[in-house]
This record gives sequence, structure tokens and C-alpha cells, in this order.
Amino acid sequence: MKRIFSGIQPTGEIHLGNYVGAIRNWVELTKEYDCIFCVVDYHAITVEYPIEELKKRTIETALILIASGLTPDTCKVFVQSHVPEHTELAWIFNCVTPIGELERMTQFKDKSRQHRTNINMGLMDYPILQAADILIYKAGFVPVGEDQVQHVELSREVARKFNARFGEIFPEPKAILSIAPKILGVDGAAKMSKTLNNYIGILEDETSMWEKLRTAVTDVNRVRRTDPGNPEVCNIYSIHKAFSDSQVLFDVDKGCRTAGIGCIDCKKLLFKNLVEELSPIRDRAFSLMKNTDYVLDVIHNGAHDCSAIVKETMKDVRNALGLLT
Ligand code: ATP
Ligand code: MG
Repeated sequence: MKRIFSGIQPTGEIHLGNYVGAIRNWVELTKEYDCIFCVVDYHAITVEYPIEELKKRTIETALILIASGLTPDTCKVFVQSHVPEHTELAWIFNCVTPIGELERMTQFKDKSRQHRTNINMGLMDYPILQAADILIYKAGFVPVGEDQVQHVELSREVARKFNARFGEIFPEPKAILSIAPKILGVDGAAKMSKTLNNYIGILEDETSMWEKLRTAVTDVNRVRRTDPGNPEVCNIYSIHKAFSDSQVLFDVDKGCRTAGIGCIDCKKLLFKNLVEELSPIRDRAFSLMKNTDYVLDVIHNGAHDCSAIVKETMKDVRNALGLLT
């Protein structure tokens, strides 16, 4: 069975983009693949964060994965820092990767702009740790949102460079995209992100969800209710595609282009479908919040199983490097 690896940062509230771009796809993929999902806390410390919140965010992120259907029966869920070999392998990968490859990464450029006063080495090295996360499990596929495709490409390059110098150890992983690989924020401009104030959280209360959706940017050229709109350039329509069936999509597309429906009508339909799909996940998440011991058990067992896998990989890596073992 082919192996899949992917990760999510405990940097804030999990939002619709994370859900349709990653998590929902992960749940589907557990049916066919040996899946490992990781809460990547060492990635989260590459930006400023409230230290007192990190434990809570880490548990909550794992909790949402479990509530979404990523349970121990279907996959492994664990926390990155609990398996320290990830960072060990990252160091080794540092020594085969040209700095120029990291400097040209779009996320590094974006995050450097967002965090001008803290452009630290970890921010630049982020994709190397990500390559280690993936390759240490010899994963063949990495289901991610569009923003992470460049990093997965880099991990292929890292595998190639390592293998060429030290011998064939790592496969070259491929990215897998969901049907909604890039959801924009409610501003309709930047990618929806936990660290930007532009997201709709999947555990937010319904009133706040609706308020954000109601005021979210649509097709900017559709100014009046009577103006026809263009669904192709509308972020709300791209979210619709992730939550609504083909009949609704057809009706919304037609209604928008002919000004038969207004943006609020369109958003109401989306909201209904969105709440319907998210409700069971939200219910499970809220009940897990009363039983975080279960969540801690899951991630503890996940780390235990993953440790066994990475120990094997690291044995081969240390031998290949010629280290005294
Ligand atoms: P941060 O702002 O801290 O970077 P984030 O919202 O980008 O947080 P990540 O933890 O970096 O979330 O990414 C987790 C997964 O969700 C990745 O696979 C990423 O590609 C995917 N993802 C994140 N944002 C979106 C989005 N707006 N649309 C689709 N997929 C997304
Ligand atoms: Mg991100």
C-alpha cells in the first residue's frame, strides 16, 4: 500500500481552506493509502506566536483532524516534535540543498513580507523540514493545497540530490491536489490563512460564520444587484464548488450570470450546504473537547508508531552518510 504524508500547522483556527484544500481530501485518501498526518509544531515556531497558546492549539488541531474522520482506525495522527528524527533529517538535508533553492520559495517571500521584523533562518529552512517530514516516511504522495506544491517539488529535488550523493534511499514524492486547492480569504484577495485575518473557522459559531460569509468579497465587478456576475472570478463560487452539488452549481452559475439571483441568495445557499456538511464534524469536535485525554492518547500512539518507522529510515541514512554508528 502506497504511503501518504501530510501536515498542518498549529498556528490558529482551522478554516474552510484547510478543510476543503487538505483535510477532507485526507479523509478520502485514507480509504486507499497508508496515511500519516502530522501537526507540525516545529513549523509553527518559524513565526511569532503566543507561547502560552501553543499546547492548546496543538491539541485542538489534532482534535479537528480526528473529528473530521482521521481516526486511529484509518491513519496515524501525531505531533512533529514528538518524533525528533524529523529535525535530525532536516539538518542532513540542509547539507545537500543549495541556499538559492530556498530563497526562491514563494511562501518564504510572502512570509518574509508578513513578518518583516522576524525573518529567521527557520522561515527559510521551512521547506527542508517539510522535505524531511515527507521523506523520512518514504511517502509517495503528499496531499496539499496549491500553496504547498512548490515545497513538494523541492522535496523531490532534495531526494534527488541526496540519492545522487549518498545512494538511492528516498522516493520522489508527488503532490495531490483536492478539488478546491486554493480558497481565497473573505477579502477575496489573499489565500485564506490561519495567520491572516481573512478566514472562516470551521468551529466558529454559525452567527459569526454567516456574518463573515455575508460580507465576503464576491465578483468585484458586480456592483448592483441587477449587474450580471462572473462566477469564474468569484471566490464564493469556488467555495460553492467544494460544498454544493452539480444542480446547485448550475443554478448558481446561471443565476449569477443573468442577475437572476443576487450575491446574498448565492451565499445563503452556500451557507446551508456548508453548515450541513460541517455539523457532524463540529459536533464531534465539541464533544472531543470534553475528552482531550482521548486526543492525547491518539497522538501519543501515533508518535509511537511513527518512531518505529523513522528509526529504520535513519539507520539507512546514517550508514549512507558514513557516520560512525
Ligand atoms: P498559516 O497561515 O499558518 O500558514 P494555513 O492556513 O496556510 O496557515 P497550513 O497549516 O500552512 O495552513 O496548511 C495546512 C494545509 O492546508 C496545507 O496542505 C495547505 O496547502 C492547505 N491550505 C491552507 N490554506 C489553504 C487555502 N486557502 N486553500 C486551500 N488549501 C489550503
Ligand atoms: Mg500555510
